[in-house]
Amino acid sequence: MNEFQLIKYLTDWVNKNQEGVIKSIGDDTAVLEYNKNNFLIITTDSLIEGTHFKFSWKIPIKNILYSIGFKAVAINISDIYAMAGSPKYFLVSISAPKNFPVNYLKMIYNGIKSASKYYNVELIGGNTTSNSKIFFIDVTMLGIVNKNNVLYRNNARTGDFIYINGELGNSRMGLELLNRNSNSFKNKFVKSFLLPHPFINWSEIFKIAKVNSAIDVSDGFVADLNHILNDSLKGAEIYLDYLPVDNELKKIKNKKWQDFALYGGEDYKIIFTSPDEIKLNNIYKIGKILNNRKIYLVSDGEKKEVKNVKGYMHFR
Ligand code: ADP
Ligand code: MG
Repeated sequence: MNEFQLIKYLTDWVNKNQEGVIKSIGDDTAVLEYNKNNFLIITTDSLIEGTHFKFSWKIPIKNILYSIGFKAVAINISDIYAMAGSPKYFLVSISAPKNFPVNYLKMIYNGIKSASKYYNVELIGGNTTSNSKIFFIDVTMLGIVNKNNVLYRNNARTGDFIYINGELGNSRMGLELLNRNSNSFKNKFVKSFLLPHPFINWSEIFKIAKVNSAIDVSDGFVADLNHILNDSLKGAEIYLDYLPVDNELKKIKNKKWQDFALYGGEDYKIIFTSPDEIKLNNIYKIGKILNNRKIYLVSDGEKKEVKNVKGYMHFR
């Protein structure tokens, strides 16, 4: 059973008509009744030693620890933004080997504190355990979203343009550098990977456009776009020549930069679809929603179908 099959199994199994539950499993956050104008939204995500980070990377350990804390909060903020919500409160669960140094924990909490200030979110609880092997951290984030603005994955419409709010592929390059023993915490690619700073100005976008669907990029641009397509029963064409990709990455990676941008993952940018032309700073139009269920890559007028959607998957 792979990750998606498990989620499908759970989606079929949970009660669809729970009181106060607007959206259960299947989107970036769960959505609950809250008050007259707002829904309460909740999401959880973890970072696991060995899977998401390694203490053996060659950058200073204090930088690794700080970024684990910061990133654990940031990746949850990303899911709240993907629903067009505002993050408010969070809980942190950690588990560490018995001999894990206390000052390491403090450095991780420095990162958490700094993310909490940056995003103006409050720590309200959590849990601490020990285990025999690895460090992991799990954050649960609560936010609110205006009922008129909430964005789901399942509402993309044929003809919608596909937008992204920043560069793709940098984080994947950062991971590669770390795994190749780079020791520069200051390198911009390493920074994109270790310290993602999700940001989207929805109010500016809503002023000029109707938005139909959204998701954040955690598994990879095509893999995450594909969640929108599957849930909306649509297809898409992706304009390769318009993908926002760092110039230096294009040079280093020659042709491979396309793979990093399309399938890299952990970009923590927001994909959204809208029938309107949007001309705003740092918002890029990179595709269009189609009525058939296929995905095409378009470049120089040539179309190529994507048959196998690569992306990160836990369990295979
Ligand atoms: P994201 O990448 O946005 O965090 P995921 O792909 O991890 O979303 O999860 C998709 C949906 O499946 C979410 O609604 C999430 O809450 C749910 N989900 C994932 N794993 C589990 C699990 N083990 N038990 C229950 N729900 C899960
Ligand atoms: Mg998400």
